[in-house]
Amino acid sequence: MNSSFKKTLHDGRPNIGDRQKFHQYVDEIFDRRWLTNRGQLVQEFEKELADYLGVKHCVIMCNGTIALEIAIRALNLDGEVIVPSLTFIATAHALQWQQIKPVFCDIDRNTYNIDPYEIEKHITDKTSAILGVHLYSRPCDIEALQKIADKHGLKLLFDAAHAFGCSYKGQMIGNFGECEVFSFHATKFFNTFEGGAITTNNDKLAEKVRLMQNFGFSGMDNVVHVGTNGKMSEICAAMGLVNFDEMDEIVAVNKRNYECYKMAIPSIAGLHLIDFDEKEKCNWQYIVVEVGVNYPLSRDELVSELHANNVRARKYFWPGCHRMEPYKTLFPHAGEMLTITEEVVSRLLVLPTGTSVDETTITKIVGLMQR
Ligand SMILES: *Cc1c(COP(=O)(O)O)cnc(C)c1O
Repeated sequence: MNSSFKKTLHDGRPNIGDRQKFHQYVDEIFDRRWLTNRGQLVQEFEKELADYLGVKHCVIMCNGTIALEIAIRALNLDGEVIVPSLTFIATAHALQWQQIKPVFCDIDRNTYNIDPYEIEKHITDKTSAILGVHLYSRPCDIEALQKIADKHGLKLLFDAAHAFGCSYKGQMIGNFGECEVFSFHATKFFNTFEGGAITTNNDKLAEKVRLMQNFGFSGMDNVVHVGTNGKMSEICAAMGLVNFDEMDEIVAVNKRNYECYKMAIPSIAGLHLIDFDEKEKCNWQYIVVEVGVNYPLSRDELVSELHANNVRARKYFWPGCHRMEPYKTLFPHAGEMLTITEEVVSRLLVLPTGTSVDETTITKIVGLMQR
């Protein structure tokens, strides 16, 4: 390995659109002296996203976690909500923060998404909803989940933080369940520094979410509902507009990167690369590798080896929410029903991609994995 490769940190830096255009937006924001509170850019951005997703309502938020919390409140969820444990901790925290018990459900061995056939084992008279997560750009088995939700009178919503720009049976993610929640955090494929959104085709829900996002204000002096501050600033919306204009290019780079990884990884014995449905739209953001038993190194050893060469591979989502606090203490036996999750968390790693990663870098990363 040559030393210049090792001197650079290969971690898949955030995607950044046209700087010139961004600076121009910032000047306009200062000229208008309208910094937040549903400014012109937030409104433009909301409209652009709703059009793109083909959804009736898109309410832009300050981040994905607050958006999840607001969605959960607006749907009047309580008691218990069934979620996968293999997800970012915010999915569980958004429930726990509001005194709702996250009930962890196992995943499908092939898709890593919540297994619809495991859900019924967890339904009690306290269950109010199913919160699915479209993990690693791949939609859940939405139809099966909707069927179970309908059968038991449960609400269904989605954490779509990984699936902006992806489709399910030809329809964009953002249109399913009662609502879907996106994150536009810097580490996501499409970012606004910090940001998020709730999308829904339900007029009443959209209205409620809008009230809750702005302290319950309806007009200047009239508060009609309990609320919080979930607003996005104009600066973040400017970043969103700039990145939106370059989304096709970002996706093309991600796809090229994925194909570059795909040329080499499947031929390495013991490594399995995630695959995506070519018939659907995809953001190609998650280069997930499963380390099998016949690979000479364990996942942890391989990650250490990559880190030693300055490749920032991540063990997403080790060790699973149920093994992190407070859930580990609250539900010490949760793992007993999470056989597949427990196996998979010790086998997965996520490799760098995005516009800061090129083909030469990928060839070198893959070279480190060849044994
Ligand atoms: C990033 C992420 C979130 C949280 O979004 P933020 O915008 O960082 O608050 C929630 N769920 C999943 C699955 C995520 O990856």
